[in-house]
Amino acid sequence: MSHTAELIAVGTELLLGNIANTDAQMISQGLSELGINVFYHTVVGDNPDRVRQAVDIAKKRADILITTGGLGPTCDDLTKVALAQAFGRKLFYHEPSAQRIRDRFAAMGRPVTENNYQQAMIPEGATVLDNDWGTAPGVAFAADGVHVLMLPGPPRECEMMFQHRAVPYLRGLSDGVIASRTVKTFGIGESAAESVLRDLMNALHNPTLAPYAKPNGTELRITAHADTEAEALALIAPVEEQVKALMGHYVIGVDVDSLEEVCFSLLQAQGLTLGTAESCTGGLIAKLITDRPGSSAIFRGGIVSYTNAVKHHVLGVPQDLLDTYGAVSPQVAEAMARGAKQALGCDIALSSTGVAGPDPDDRGNPIGLVYLGIAWGDQCVVKALHAGTMATRERVRNQAAQHSLDLLRRHLTGLPLEES
Ligand code: ATP
Ligand code: MG
Repeated sequence: MSHTAELIAVGTELLLGNIANTDAQMISQGLSELGINVFYHTVVGDNPDRVRQAVDIAKKRADILITTGGLGPTCDDLTKVALAQAFGRKLFYHEPSAQRIRDRFAAMGRPVTENNYQQAMIPEGATVLDNDWGTAPGVAFAADGVHVLMLPGPPRECEMMFQHRAVPYLRGLSDGVIASRTVKTFGIGESAAESVLRDLMNALHNPTLAPYAKPNGTELRITAHADTEAEALALIAPVEEQVKALMGHYVIGVDVDSLEEVCFSLLQAQGLTLGTAESCTGGLIAKLITDRPGSSAIFRGGIVSYTNAVKHHVLGVPQDLLDTYGAVSPQVAEAMARGAKQALGCDIALSSTGVAGPDPDDRGNPIGLVYLGIAWGDQCVVKALHAGTMATRERVRNQAAQHSLDLLRRHLTGLPLEES
């Protein structure tokens, strides 16, 4: 049976805009991984009547109700009282929770005040979700055909309680298992991917297919529900093949994290070394590669050649190229990549030169124009990237670094170096 969950975040701070509802984001992501539909998020202030109204509405349209916040010791922490009332449950004093609170305060060397024991009041028949990350225990119970879970508001506590307490509880509700595989793409936006996949998405029920826009590429998650993991994976396999075929060379891998991870593995498998000559990316490409342990086996080094003098003296970019075409030009990107390959003694070199902003350069090149070079053997290819004149400095750099790594991925997998 498929489940539908609704999240109710309790907290006036959320309504005032003092904080963002990041707990809901985290929980929704987790629920989607469990294959549980989320149709509504509700945010309600610390007001018993309105919390009660929100619960009355939610229980009619969802069979899993998850609340966040309002489990603490102060008088505005009213979630348990409101929920217990909404489901006709009395609250009783739960001595093991009280003991945990005493122990926690003793460990911190602080006295327990009377209101702290409010946190040990639990709705009758409820399962206590022990909180190893804070004082307020979470609570779960089933009533009126609805599973109710209450989690504390502070984001770290909420996340730990969700992962370690709520997820096992929710897994127990579903008969069978849920498995998913994620096809990661780069260079195609979420809406473009969706339009290519729409017919397939609409035709699917189990598995389901959903696109997720991530900062460095669109993810296409295929999720199946079956009695065993093997059966779920068998349902996923043909759809995975269809998605890969439809997305073609935009696919960077399945269940992979990032382009840097993919490039790293490809370089390692092919026994090749990399070097970089970076201008506008300021060393970001080198950073992304060297973030991974073991990178010394594949990465020779990088030169952040920010000024023309360094491009000329260290990378050997001919002065007349710099004078004639300017630093932001395909000619200089090529000379930088070739120069880096020579200077660093690597098999493949990447280069970047562009306008990160906030102003256009002195030759009138627009913000966001970047030339990315890749040199290997005696060959070199340069690609122009238009990150957009409205892009922030950070975005231009990030896009440039990612597209540079995509050039590398395409080169290493024998794909055309252009996207189309
Ligand atoms: P405490 O024991 O700290 O009182 P609590 O479970 O009663 O925890 P709240 O008092 O509602 O939770 O919120 C505590 C803090 O947690 C808030 O000040 C806020 O910073 C954060 N918080 C609460 N709800 C959310 C939410 N939905 N998303 C992100 N942060 C939240
Ligand atoms: Mg509180």
